[in-house]
Amino acid sequence: MIRLFRPACPKPKELAAGNYKVPENKKALKVSAHEKCMYCESKISHIDHAHVEHIKPKAHGKYPHLEYTWTNLGYSCAICNGKKHDKYDEKTPYIDPYSDDPEEHLTFHGWIVFPRNGSERGELTITDVALNRAELIEQRKDRIEGLLRAINACFRTQNQSLKEAALRSLAQEAASNKEYSLAVKFALRAQEVIT
Ligand SMILES: [Zn+2]
Repeated sequence: MIRLFRPACPKPKELAAGNYKVPENKKALKVSAHEKCMYCESKISHIDHAHVEHIKPKAHGKYPHLEYTWTNLGYSCAICNGKKHDKYDEKTPYIDPYSDDPEEHLTFHGWIVFPRNGSERGELTITDVALNRAELIEQRKDRIEGLLRAINACFRTQNQSLKEAALRSLAQEAASNKEYSLAVKFALRAQEVIT
């Protein structure tokens, strides 16, 4: 999960009139999340697999006034959306990447995410959204292991300019639009590829 910036709502009237799935609005959420799930950072390849996420849940009429509120909407994969479902604790709210900096609450050791500095919000988010579910661990492990091999090769490169070019390109792998970028960022920092 990474910090995201919420754009203005393209179609506020339609949203207020009771349609939270207006295509223009969904598209704006998708772009703001770099076409990835706002929670697990998996690329959402097919639009049908993307859900308009209610940060405070709409299920069971818990927060009916927030069902059509732009600041309560996000873009998530079907699995994270389903895991979270109607859970929400006002006293320990899930990390909202549009208003919190996830890095203050989460830290990665390899491909596993842990709460940072004992953050209860971090821990509850990891548990309830299942951010260490088997499929995610496998995907992050593949990605990071591939990068570690590339880092090794890079550090062994004798030619300085080739080495620097390769390091710059590796550093780009932690960019916000890349899959599992927070896990990658921690891995690249641990290898001193980035600071
Ligand atoms: Zn997800």
